[in-house]
Amino acid sequence: MIAGPCSAETREQVMETAAALSAMGVQLFRAGVWKPRTRPGSFEGNGVKALEWLKEATQIYKIPVAVEIAEPAHIEQALKHGIDVLWVGARTTVNPFQVQHLADALKGVNIPVMVKNPVNPDVDLWQGAIERFEKAGATSVAAIHRGFSGYSAAAGYRNQPNWPIPIELKRRKPELTIICDPSHITGNRDRIAEIAQKAMDMHFDGLMIETHPHPDEAWSDAAQQVTPDRLKEILAGLIVREEYTHDMSALMQLEYLRQLMDSLDAEIIDLIAKRMELSEQMAFVKKESNLTAYQPGRWREIVETRGERAQAHLLSKEFIVELYEKIHHESIRKQLAILESLASPAAASAKDGEKEIKK
Ligand code: PEP
Ligand code: MN
Repeated sequence: MIAGPCSAETREQVMETAAALSAMGVQLFRAGVWKPRTRPGSFEGNGVKALEWLKEATQIYKIPVAVEIAEPAHIEQALKHGIDVLWVGARTTVNPFQVQHLADALKGVNIPVMVKNPVNPDVDLWQGAIERFEKAGATSVAAIHRGFSGYSAAAGYRNQPNWPIPIELKRRKPELTIICDPSHITGNRDRIAEIAQKAMDMHFDGLMIETHPHPDEAWSDAAQQVTPDRLKEILAGLIVREEYTHDMSALMQLEYLRQLMDSLDAEIIDLIAKRMELSEQMAFVKKESNLTAYQPGRWREIVETRGERAQAHLLSKEFIVELYEKIHHESIRKQLAILESLASPAAASAKDGEKEIKK
């Protein structure tokens, strides 16, 4: 559990927050001292003097501290002040040159580094940033999911969570610790509990929640910070779930359901293969009659009828249409390959032979 203010504003604010968080067992105190602000003229952090407050808080309240670093000079100052953990912000992770400068500055220093996801939903870029630190010798690197920017605050998020991205990162790097930052995802203190629970249900390893003694007066990110008391309530209400259990009856029920699911999946794949065969046969007819592979009218009909069928089964129409977009796209790709290979006379006669065999 990581908590602390968006920014270290004053010595008093740092001490008051650290005292409360340390008393409730928070394991790492976060506070920004160099703030990447979207527009100039906002509060950009207290810099080096805030590092001194943080170290003082560690000594008094026995809680390790983390700050965001975005330049090698920040790393130099943070290390000089004995900061325990560093994190790389979303606006830095997007830039491989900058991440490499940071990784180079950390060569030979083994301090834990947490890498926030880049602002754009690109799992390769996120993984790449993590690997730059690993290659530089860091042995304790974690990822923080803080959501992805969009044009508007869609569905009430400041940064859309896009869960498949952190899940894919964890699939690629199973040993990686992944932390969720519900504060920057929601931008709204009323939704933090909901996203924190979702992160637990999605097998995240920890949470980073912005906490301030007087959130409404915060100098940055006021709307998304909670008081230490509210944080305590949120944590008390969380259900922490596990991936494994020793409960034999639960394990047997799951095993039974998984076997049923495995055989359904096998059927689904066999059916998709049959559907693709039909699609290939259609490509030969289309070629002969000079028809396009993609036919907008037919696609509209598929979207409508499959969508209706989905709803009849209480499935989400959007989900089924998205699935069909993928199937249809693959089907068109296969048809195009046939139309194009038939374009040359030699290929055409080879394909005619194939057609005869199929008949
Ligand atoms: C922050 O943690 O306060 C911060 C600036 O976050 P992000 O890099 O996720 O925008
Ligand atoms: Mn913040």
